[in-house]
Amino acid sequence: MRNPTAFLGEEYRQLVDQDLDWRIRVLESPSMPWSEIDGKRVLMFCSNNYLGLSNHPRLKEAAHRAIDERGVGSGSVRPIAGTMDLHVELERRLARFKHADASLVYQTGFAANAGLIPQLAGEGDLIVSDELNHGSIIDGVRLSRAERAVYRHADVEDLRSVLSKAEEHAPSYRRILVITDGVFSMDGDIAPLDRISQVAADHGAMVYVDDAHGEGVLGPGGRGIVSHFGLGRDKVHVEMGTFSKAFGVVGGHISGSKDLALFALNKSRTWLLSGSHPPPVAAACLAAIDVLESEPEHVERLWAHTRRFKKEMRDLGFDIGRSETPITPVIVGESSRAQKLSSRLFELGVFALPIVFPMVARDKARIRTIMNAALTPEDVTTAVAAFAKAGRELSLI
Ligand SMILES: *Cc1c(COP(=O)(O)O)cnc(C)c1O
Repeated sequence: MRNPTAFLGEEYRQLVDQDLDWRIRVLESPSMPWSEIDGKRVLMFCSNNYLGLSNHPRLKEAAHRAIDERGVGSGSVRPIAGTMDLHVELERRLARFKHADASLVYQTGFAANAGLIPQLAGEGDLIVSDELNHGSIIDGVRLSRAERAVYRHADVEDLRSVLSKAEEHAPSYRRILVITDGVFSMDGDIAPLDRISQVAADHGAMVYVDDAHGEGVLGPGGRGIVSHFGLGRDKVHVEMGTFSKAFGVVGGHISGSKDLALFALNKSRTWLLSGSHPPPVAAACLAAIDVLESEPEHVERLWAHTRRFKKEMRDLGFDIGRSETPITPVIVGESSRAQKLSSRLFELGVFALPIVFPMVARDKARIRTIMNAALTPEDVTTAVAAFAKAGRELSLI
């Protein structure tokens, strides 16, 4: 008789044989510059907690207070009985921070992309997407009935030609949506959003940017990629982001016009049909915005560390790709080399995970490092020394 679940183990073992399985490390401490992971004290070099806000006293205090005053759950989905004053205040403050007319908060960034993209474009429409966009965008696009086209990574001329060809083919698209990551999470490069938005405008297309890795990092005060390029809301129509990275908490969001927020909340099934954030989450996100507005030193320190780390790694002879942000990939080739480097670094006290196929091309496996403002200059020295030692042992440099 056929075993209906035999494929589970078979497919898993295939991944293991190819060094493509996830080996999950467990944190036994807060996510801090020095974290306790699998029983070992190591330097955290791959968290998305860019500014160290997940342990900032003001965020923790706000979360505690919200539990005391509002409890640990919201009791419902947002449209029924799950919108608290904290959620409304968070959206108001986020819109102000982003210099937008309105913002809407989703449970996660993934839920924002999966819920909103298929509503923005459907039957008779066209979505044009950068080939390296994040998986949550890819899934959002798959949920749409729109036609799809992909342009070469960050290649504005290719975007222009894709749009021109599409229009020749079918001049009657109802709407066109151009969608890109702001900062690409595997390579750390920045989308040329100024030129992308210009080309989109030439074709009457909407522009949607996923700024998950740009917020708290790029632009004045960490306001993100739209501020970084100084673009108006008439140029970038949907600025999507997350509270789970530099903001140090969890949650997705979009910013733009009032019409966008009202459309999105009435149409996104992920927003309408899934429970809203617990009060401590909303309160901690609010406190994160306070911190970004009043303590610019976190973003400044993040960039100072980043510039130094990139220079020292390049001087050592590592291939650190084309990154322009605190994400610095250390590209080593095959998956197994990345796994070995990561294991050796861990033994030497640095935690940086390998990123392998299918997240990146098979021959572009890497260690992805993410700089953190909470590290001290001595911590950065320690990490560079560990990379140098492991790199030489494995003949990578
Ligand atoms: C992390 C990430 C997301 C998902 O955000 P969550 O809030 O963690 O669900 C979406 N897009 C990009 C580009 C990301 O890096």
